[in-house]
Amino acid sequence: MDKIIITYHESFSRRSYLTHGTRLSDFPAVLSEILSDPRFELEFADAIEEKWILKVHTKDHIEGVRRDHLCSTAWYSVGSVVTSADMVMSGKAKRAFALIGAGGHHAGRNYFWGYCCFNDVVIAINYLRECYGVERFAIVDTDAHHGDGTRELVRDDPGVLHCCICSTNYSSKDGTKIDISAFDVLAQARDTPSRNQAYAQIVRQNFVPLIKDFCPQLIFWYFGFDTHQGDYGDLGLTHGAYIEIAKILCKVADEVCNGRLEVVLGGGSRRDLANIVIPPVIKILGNS
Ligand SMILES: [Zn+2]
Ligand SMILES: [Zn+2]
Repeated sequence: MDKIIITYHESFSRRSYLTHGTRLSDFPAVLSEILSDPRFELEFADAIEEKWILKVHTKDHIEGVRRDHLCSTAWYSVGSVVTSADMVMSGKAKRAFALIGAGGHHAGRNYFWGYCCFNDVVIAINYLRECYGVERFAIVDTDAHHGDGTRELVRDDPGVLHCCICSTNYSSKDGTKIDISAFDVLAQARDTPSRNQAYAQIVRQNFVPLIKDFCPQLIFWYFGFDTHQGDYGDLGLTHGAYIEIAKILCKVADEVCNGRLEVVLGGGSRRDLANIVIPPVIKILGNS
């Protein structure tokens, strides 16, 4: 039976850089129906050991995060993302969803901003390379904002395909670092369903062929719901867009890397939206 793991720490519900504690207040309770299905398991994350953070960030960066009281969940957040990655790579789970308190994609080697503290995904990549010898990764970033910290950290890494939907169009010379502007695509859509479809279509049309060519051993989906109507990165989307992207990425993961997909929670601030959008995405992970 293919397991789907959800990693979590209680601090994410009490306090989060993103929301000062409200966005995941109803977790894990809102997952009770999902967790009644034996395929899904909640795993409690520990704080990440500092040696893994030091492979990506400077000592000064760590001290800065320590001094910022809004980053109090950062060690558990990275712990959640690395625990999910470990369980997928070791074969204990087919896919995983990592809940977090503090974000990751705006954290570069020696800076952090925008609700982010440590770069959770890049730390997980370093961990998997060292512990499992994994070489190739794809990151699909559908947070509303450009993943500048992640891009800085993987810019010269040919083993990472970094696909980001943000506000510019860009492709690196080697074709492994891609930005697509959501604004260009969404400008043509007239209503919410067509906006959802147009947004998901970027992943299907622009990113899926790249992922198939690149053949990653694991796909990370950096999933921000700040793009939802009424949240702080509002692109006019609703949950339909996220469900569609979840289906697309499960399918391509099945085709190229034995289904291995880790969803990492990114931006998004509203408690009501977290309760509406996160459980259906987790369900999709178990559907195929
Ligand atoms: Zn964002
Ligand atoms: Zn970008």
